[in-house]
Amino acid sequence: MRRNLVVGNWKMHGSRASNGLLLSGLKEAGPWSADVAVCVPFPYITETALALTGTNVSFGAQDCSAHEQGAFTGEVSSAMLADIGCRYVIVGHSERRAYHAESDQLVADKAKAALAHGVTPIVCVGETLAEREAGQTEAVVKRQLSAVIHTLTHCIGEIVVAYEPVWAIGTGLTASPAQAQSVHAVLRTLLAAATQKASSMRLLYGGSVKPDNAAELFAQADIDGGLIGGAALKAADFSAICRAAG
Ligand code: PEP
Repeated sequence: MRRNLVVGNWKMHGSRASNGLLLSGLKEAGPWSADVAVCVPFPYITETALALTGTNVSFGAQDCSAHEQGAFTGEVSSAMLADIGCRYVIVGHSERRAYHAESDQLVADKAKAALAHGVTPIVCVGETLAEREAGQTEAVVKRQLSAVIHTLTHCIGEIVVAYEPVWAIGTGLTASPAQAQSVHAVLRTLLAAATQKASSMRLLYGGSVKPDNAAELFAQADIDGGLIGGAALKAADFSAICRAAG
């Protein structure tokens, strides 16, 4: 039996003041039966951890380096994330793939680095609108996930996967529950060929999830929660989505 997971991706939003309000709103609204986490900008992780003390909301980061340590100015290692208590790190978000030219292999290497330090990578995969219209959705997500499967080998069962169609992120367009489920089923089948843990792995859907569409998405057989962008910045909306998951 899989327990749903809802993760807020704050992206590059927030300030100490606005984060404080958001986190206290979440504290008042919780707890939820689903697992819940927030992935926040690096400078705010420690303060977020403090604010969440005593709750069952986990926290994490939105990226990590593929390197262990060294002369990599501006990068943050997964050892550092582990050191400050991060449970999760998002890797391969489409914004990083697009704006920072992150390759499938780099994403896989980041996932490997995170796991090496006990931080669970949330590996994002998803097709662009042009790829969907060209009938390439399945091929794209399989290519992206296969790189991670080949790199992590026997550890693949330890990751969380997030299917995020690029055309649905921040656009207000959501994949229909049936569209999302069909890609999730493809991903779980691919994972099942690589690990016996596939049936217990959590596959999240992300892309304009809101309080009014969350329950139907989470009701799909292979959707085990969500990765939430815009709606994670409003305590009432994020709480409602967490409730829909649990
Ligand atoms: C995201 O960026 O991971 C995301 C899903 O964003 P939104 O919910 O705003 O579409």
